[in-house]
Amino acid sequence: MALTGIQILKMLPKKNCGECGIPTCLAFAMKVAAGQTEIGECPYVTDEVKEQIGEASAPPIRSIKIGAGASTFTTGGETCLYRHEKRFENPTGIGVLISTDMAAAEIDGRIERFKSLRYERVGVLLKADIIAIKDAKNDEASFTALVKKVLTGAEDASLVLISDNAANITAAAKACGERKPLIYGATQNNSKEFAAAAKELGCPLGIKGSNLDDTVALTEQLAGEGLKDMVIDTGARTIRAALEDNVVARRAAVNKKYKPLGFSTITFPCEMTTDPLMEAMIASVLIAKYAGIIILSDLQGDIFFPLLLERLNIFTDPQRPMVVEENIYPINGPDENSPVLITCNFSLTYFIVSGEVEGSKVPSWLLIKDTEGLSVLTAWAAGKFGADMIAQFMKKSGIEDKVKHRDLIIPGYLASMKGELEEELPGWTITIGPREGGHLPSFLKEWKPAAA
Ligand code: SF4
Repeated sequence: MALTGIQILKMLPKKNCGECGIPTCLAFAMKVAAGQTEIGECPYVTDEVKEQIGEASAPPIRSIKIGAGASTFTTGGETCLYRHEKRFENPTGIGVLISTDMAAAEIDGRIERFKSLRYERVGVLLKADIIAIKDAKNDEASFTALVKKVLTGAEDASLVLISDNAANITAAAKACGERKPLIYGATQNNSKEFAAAAKELGCPLGIKGSNLDDTVALTEQLAGEGLKDMVIDTGARTIRAALEDNVVARRAAVNKKYKPLGFSTITFPCEMTTDPLMEAMIASVLIAKYAGIIILSDLQGDIFFPLLLERLNIFTDPQRPMVVEENIYPINGPDENSPVLITCNFSLTYFIVSGEVEGSKVPSWLLIKDTEGLSVLTAWAAGKFGADMIAQFMKKSGIEDKVKHRDLIIPGYLASMKGELEEELPGWTITIGPREGGHLPSFLKEWKPAAA
């Protein structure tokens, strides 16, 4: 039976040291109880307590780490079927396939695109996570050489090693050192050798079933042999089968607590079609419906970027507004004569406004007031962006020490606040800025302090 947060707290060392990444033991216990983190994240609990709590509080989809340090990728850890019930925990890993039978130029191109196709949106770095390396020639030497090339060529890539040969995969995985790869794929024929390799190497194991039933038989057998960290491939190689298997597996794990399917899935859109657009469409369906990892045949910006945005949207926590820190943000190297603008801390607003100010090339000070992630008008209506609160923030922010003038530019939508704000901020002149971020560059280029 699941333990409550209080029951778990009683078994914790109560140091409140924050080493688990959560400030207090109570908060950590609550998260463990909710299946949002694992008891093993606290370095001070005994093995006995770990076992006692771990089983009772583990998320229905086991959380698994691939790689180490900057290349660590976590998959699984999911606790719900629909994002609005709580949130999805770990974004689908997007990987690109390279293979020992490819020409060197093709391999180099894919590694290069892995490294270069990176985008920043709302303060989040969007990129591929995984390079899957296939032992297409069943040859240990060429497989290991290719793995070594990727290790040095793409330092933040998590690795999935694909081979039918346990000896080849062991040799290649050993070359990875601390960057423990996912070794794939254990089948009915080679499961004993792969299980032994996974245990010896301390790597998670990819299961390659021929269908859902076969996958269940394999995970049950391997779990019986003491293997815990597994990722499953049900063998589906059509969009319909892959979608159905992902949905069945997630429902069984979350609703029925069915352990043989309580693992993250690895899917291969790269093996389902030769048409890049169809591959992207399949990938988009599988990102939306529960794939833990998708392996693409290649990364091309025009179809890769929409997949990254889809993933960003689906895996954004619906219960937590996206915010930036309350602060003064200098843009374009401002000085004491530069304009001062203020807006809310809803991250989309921040990135639009800061982007336009940056694009204007006008050195400026951007003040971000904490509005709990609400946008300008919503925050104003909710009483979190009123004249008194802005004035209070202005006084404590230290902006008066940074500029000689006393001219504050407020969002155009808050024009009605001008008089009230001037009363709250004696000595300051309030200038109404544009309503749309896109009009900021021309506005700033013409701006002069009111007293000038
Ligand atoms: S690491 Fe352990 S002892 Fe420290 S705060 Fe977290 S749960 Fe408490």
